[in-house]
Amino acid sequence: MSGIYIHIPFCKQACHYCDFHFSTSLKKKDDLINALSKELELRKDDFKKTTVKTIYFGGGTPSLLTNDELQYIINSVYKNYKVSEDPEITLEANPDDLSKDRIIDLAHTPINRLSIGIQSFFEADLKLMNRAHNAKEAKECLYVATQYFDNISLDLIYGIPGASNEQWLANIEMALSYNVPHISSYALTVEPKTALAAFIKKGIIEDVDDEQAHEQFYILKEKLEASDFVHYELSNFGKDGFFSKNNSAYWKGKSYIGIGPSAHSFNGKQRGWNVSNNSKYIKAIQQNELPIEIETLTTTDQYNEYIMTGLRTIWGVSFVKVENDFGTTFKDYLIEQSEVFINQHLLYIDDEHLRVTKKGQFLSDGIASELFKLNLS
Ligand code: SF4
Repeated sequence: MSGIYIHIPFCKQACHYCDFHFSTSLKKKDDLINALSKELELRKDDFKKTTVKTIYFGGGTPSLLTNDELQYIINSVYKNYKVSEDPEITLEANPDDLSKDRIIDLAHTPINRLSIGIQSFFEADLKLMNRAHNAKEAKECLYVATQYFDNISLDLIYGIPGASNEQWLANIEMALSYNVPHISSYALTVEPKTALAAFIKKGIIEDVDDEQAHEQFYILKEKLEASDFVHYELSNFGKDGFFSKNNSAYWKGKSYIGIGPSAHSFNGKQRGWNVSNNSKYIKAIQQNELPIEIETLTTTDQYNEYIMTGLRTIWGVSFVKVENDFGTTFKDYLIEQSEVFINQHLLYIDDEHLRVTKKGQFLSDGIASELFKLNLS
């Protein structure tokens, strides 16, 4: 199982909380699209022996590309790689790009999954985050999209300053009213050097309240689980048959290629990342060079990565896999380190797998880091 991630580094405007790589100038869009197509060709040998099962347009805002431009990139994938018969092809899209006509046109492309950046149905939240869409557009696009696509995910953000638990619950209920089969939800985090961090520092926006984010996480979990969603990854909830194939493969440690500026790649042993600069990226690709830095993972890195992703998912961390892939020393270390968290009812062992309890879920990243091994040898 292999996936191709394609990064579209353009946005209409900068959301206050965002630290992803994007540009608000579309001047280089044509050159960038040609470079993406060429990178796909230059890297075709990476997946010579494997079949591509998922294609994921992420960003940035991929819905800023026209359907013809998206189709052009999809054609480049098919030209250079062996693609499975029924690949999952996801487009991250923002509500302001999803007019009724656009959705109907998209339904006639090979794209079969939409991941829509709703974030909130409340105007005040959207303004605070500087989203390009308004609450009316959020509702209208979902109303239409659910008539043309079966496989839809929407994103919601919790822990927004000033948003009460009642408001958060209303957001969840509004999302559920559209009957989408997948919801991704993240706590608002204050990344350094973002506008949000600067506004909080100046006292223009109140700081995020970790305790409230914690409460809202459990409101979300309870509400969605009661509506037949499976909480299959810390930030992801899906109905049966609608888990993200692309992201599940990533969490299970499968290989993927990241195309485009700032995109990451992984082949099981090495991790690579493309330059986070559109001009440098385009220039390098035009000269037939891959602007990628590659790091070979040590056994300890691979173990740490497995612990981090495994504890975030319902699949947990397999002691058998740890022993087989990394050795008995790692397995013994994991047993020893996890004991304190098992005693605190934050972790438990079931069927030779280490998993987080409900109580431990919100803390899973912190717990994982306590189970990491140091790269000493
Ligand atoms: S649309 Fe997405 S990628 Fe673009 S600025 Fe907003 S959060 Fe960041």
